Amino acid sequence: MFVEPSHRREHQNPRTGWIEVICGSMFSGKTEELIRRLNRAKIARQKIQIFKPALDKRYHEENIVSHNDNSISSIPVRLSQQISDLAQDCEVVGLDEAQFFDEGIVEVCDQLANSGKRVIIAGLDMDYLGKPFGCMPQLMAIAEYVTKVHAICMVCGEVASHSYRLSPSNEHVLLGETDMYEARCRRCFNLGEKTAELYSR
Ligand code: ZN
Repeated sequence: MFVEPSHRREHQNPRTGWIEVICGSMFSGKTEELIRRLNRAKIARQKIQIFKPALDKRYHEENIVSHNDNSISSIPVRLSQQISDLAQDCEVVGLDEAQFFDEGIVEVCDQLANSGKRVIIAGLDMDYLGKPFGCMPQLMAIAEYVTKVHAICMVCGEVASHSYRLSPSNEHVLLGETDMYEARCRRCFNLGEKTAELYSR
């Protein structure tokens, strides 16, 4: 489990910021881990704020909601630039579904960390084709800490790092996850529909 480094030194002025990335497939617990870290910061009386891309309208408009109902309120934003203004008073900035932000998000996160903030980013590292998703590769590169979380393959029970799309749609952004995607290991992801023959599900 990720344990926060002790970046805070006495009389440190200005404070040092840093970037953490939590990435993985669908059903890997990214959002739960983001919420866990933010709740710890909140308990320590640090000022936190969460942002998510405005296009994600699953569940609550104003709330980040993880799959176990453990939620923290968040602000939906259309442009990554808005975060710089909205996060001015925060000590800890959380981003969820970061793969959907525009490419300006990399510069925004860099600046937030440079100005002394802790930035925690959660997002899908790969899309349904198994390709790097949006700006996640860049964000992982500039982060001090990267945590890759895993799901369990819904076909064979191995460790899963891929999000397999069951629906035939080739739309890049397809929301409403549980019925349209499966977490799969590399082998079952590559087998695609052929897993049905092999495992007679
Ligand atoms: Zn598998």
